[in-house]
Amino acid sequence: MMFDQLSNAISEVAKNIGGRQKMTEKSIANALKDVRRALLDADVNLGVADTLIEGVKNRSIGQEVTKGVTADQQFIKAMYDELLDMMGGDSTVKNTGTMSNVPAATLAVGKAEEPAVILLAGLQGAGKTTAAGKLALYLKEREVDYDAVEAMGEEEASKLLTSRMPTRNRKVLLAAADVYRPAAISQLEILGETVGVDVFSMGTEADPVDIARKAVEKAKAEGYDTVLVDTAGRQVIDEDLMDELKRVKEEVQPQETLLVVDAMTGQEAASLTAAFDNAVGITGAVLTKMDGDSRGGAAVSVRGVSGKPIKFVGTGEKTPDLEPFYPDRMASRILGMGDVVSLVEKAAAEVSDADAEAMQKKMLEQKFDFEDFLKQSELVSKMGNFAGVAKMLPGIGGQLDNSKIREVEARLKRSKAMIQSMTKKERENPDLFITDKSARSRVLRITRGSGNSFENGINFISEFQKMRTMMSRMQKQMGGMPDGVGPN
Ligand code: GDP
Repeated sequence: MMFDQLSNAISEVAKNIGGRQKMTEKSIANALKDVRRALLDADVNLGVADTLIEGVKNRSIGQEVTKGVTADQQFIKAMYDELLDMMGGDSTVKNTGTMSNVPAATLAVGKAEEPAVILLAGLQGAGKTTAAGKLALYLKEREVDYDAVEAMGEEEASKLLTSRMPTRNRKVLLAAADVYRPAAISQLEILGETVGVDVFSMGTEADPVDIARKAVEKAKAEGYDTVLVDTAGRQVIDEDLMDELKRVKEEVQPQETLLVVDAMTGQEAASLTAAFDNAVGITGAVLTKMDGDSRGGAAVSVRGVSGKPIKFVGTGEKTPDLEPFYPDRMASRILGMGDVVSLVEKAAAEVSDADAEAMQKKMLEQKFDFEDFLKQSELVSKMGNFAGVAKMLPGIGGQLDNSKIREVEARLKRSKAMIQSMTKKERENPDLFITDKSARSRVLRITRGSGNSFENGINFISEFQKMRTMMSRMQKQMGGMPDGVGPN
């Protein structure tokens, strides 16, 4: 999967830094060398890689390690901050997973008297026409941020999804100005039909400048508020293409000129963005085929090389497969352990020292009981979704795919239900389920009470015991958070 290689390399490096108290130039020199190599292997532009490394170095060296976090976690956070800056974290609304943070400013196409115009440019095969259909759909509706929904609690998510869906509500006209590629016009017409957006075309004989102008006139006359112009692609950059694009731009004065680039081309996507920007001036890039197995160099390099932000990413061949680009999410994905970052940020705020110490003491003494387990689970959900927290755990992050995470989440839920069916005495004395003579009937009761099978109950109890032992061991080794994942 995309980024896996880079993520794994970085987590390997972080592991080697370990939990020491302070990072020095010497102690992270090797780590930085390894990260630099990983970045270059991922096809990140050389200059971008060096800037990133320099930044991580400056952020890490000489810093005291924050309480409750280990040096390797802090290193990851420095990496994250640098990646975020590099990809434009400063220029986009920061995503914290709530609806209000969907980057409304992604496109400069606010409601106005005149229709907003968006030009799409790109080389042939980059996915430009597909992106036109995707953007049309995006602008027409679909304001729900499904990633954020997935990260929400069940209740919050269902409330949002059953409420009236907020829409961008734009009335979009697609203009077919790619008159050179055979079938580009009919492809756009089919796409338009799929997403329910009108397509304006004048055939293949017309001049793209006329097509764009007439499309805008039609939009004005008929009340469309957004015109998306699919301009001509070419095999390679050539002067004719740039000239034509310049003329179209001059004619219709677009709010946005987006270059569609293919993520599979790695850092070439970044140089292409720079070249187009120098020649015609663009406002941003749409990075397509992020679902493919490219290594991530494009996502990291585009802004650093061209100075222009990535505004959207394409994640598949279908029209809904388009997402606004969130630098913070992308940085998390690249690191494969994004929630280390929020952990570092929240470590001080969420867990009071007294709480943490009491918990730690209990673990060391193996007195961790079901009551603590519940508290721990709540802490995990407070800190973010389970997936994020699990991913930060050394050695686990890389192995967890989404179905696995869902499975663990389901188990966690089952476990909680069983604990809720226990008496207070049982919660405080996990041994009652093992050594007590009525252990069996106790297990039966909590499984029935929570709608679980007897087998689930037995597994839960035995895994819980194992976990207690494991936790005290882990706690001694890492001095960090227990997983809170729980048994079964
Ligand atoms: P154009 O020449 O730039 O207009 O390219 P097209 O829009 O015709 O796309 C070229 C090919 O790339 C088509 O087969 C598309 O289905 C495919 N494609 C476009 N965007 C994506 C994407 O985000 N993911 C994947 N997997 N394929 C894509």
